[in-house]
Amino acid sequence: MSETPRDWILVTGGSRGIGRAIVEAIATPQRHLVLTYLRGREAAEQLVDTLRAADCSAEALGFDVGDSSECAQATEQLRTRLGAPYGIVNNAGVHRDGLMVWMKPDDWRDVLRTNLDSFFYVTQPFLKGMLANRRGRIINITSTAGQVGNAGQVNYAASKAGLIGATRALAKEVAPRGITVNAVAPGFVDTDMTADLPADRLKSMIPAGRFGQAREVAAVVSFLLTEGAGYVTGQVIGVNGGLA
Ligand code: NDP
Repeated sequence: MSETPRDWILVTGGSRGIGRAIVEAIATPQRHLVLTYLRGREAAEQLVDTLRAADCSAEALGFDVGDSSECAQATEQLRTRLGAPYGIVNNAGVHRDGLMVWMKPDDWRDVLRTNLDSFFYVTQPFLKGMLANRRGRIINITSTAGQVGNAGQVNYAASKAGLIGATRALAKEVAPRGITVNAVAPGFVDTDMTADLPADRLKSMIPAGRFGQAREVAAVVSFLLTEGAGYVTGQVIGVNGGLA
């Protein structure tokens, strides 16, 4: 199962952080990349310009991955124009941390809709086409918190654990048609999302003694997109410096 020149890959939340590093790592002149953003239009468009200057085909598309009608609209226009993608990287995500005893219902809902509902809203519209193509890659960015839990992140851990369950179940549904579905579970990675955390205290808990870099997560995503990764499916691959 090798890629063809017409192949395209969707990366949600490609404007910054891990998503941006994924886009940079997987861009080649043979692929068309669609990177999505919510607020970071300028950053997304600058990235597209940089990729185009390097002969890579890319476009940026803004929509809220947690909003079912925005997703339906965006996926419909992509399907009409580009057909089914070769790969989908469900990366966009948020956290709204706080102990559950104080957690506002909106903080629960916002995190679940952005991190988990988005997987369904973004992936499901393309599934029929991918099944018909008998090939493809779906990669969900989950988290160590979804594997082992984390105090102050009941909403976030629930969303990421849900994503792991969905990954394993969908992998079994689509494996007969040559589509792999995997989750990548970063630990602490240097991005805007972790900028306010007490880094020195946390680093002492990480066997590697440091936060990860976004490109170290991107390298695993990049591998999962290759032909050689065709027999890897239903897996949760940790990128966490030995934390879990
Ligand atoms: P950042 O906060 O740096 O970036 C988040 C990205 O998601 C941005 O591109 C943002 O777009 C996009 N986004 C957020 N909400 C929405 C939305 N409703 N609709 C569309 N796009 C949205 O996060 P990271 O790069 O750190 O995280 C990326 C993924 O990795 C997330 O799923 C996160 O949970 C996961 N992860 C991160 C870890 C870390 O330590 N950093 C650890 C474990 C997992 P825009 O800028 O345009 O608003």
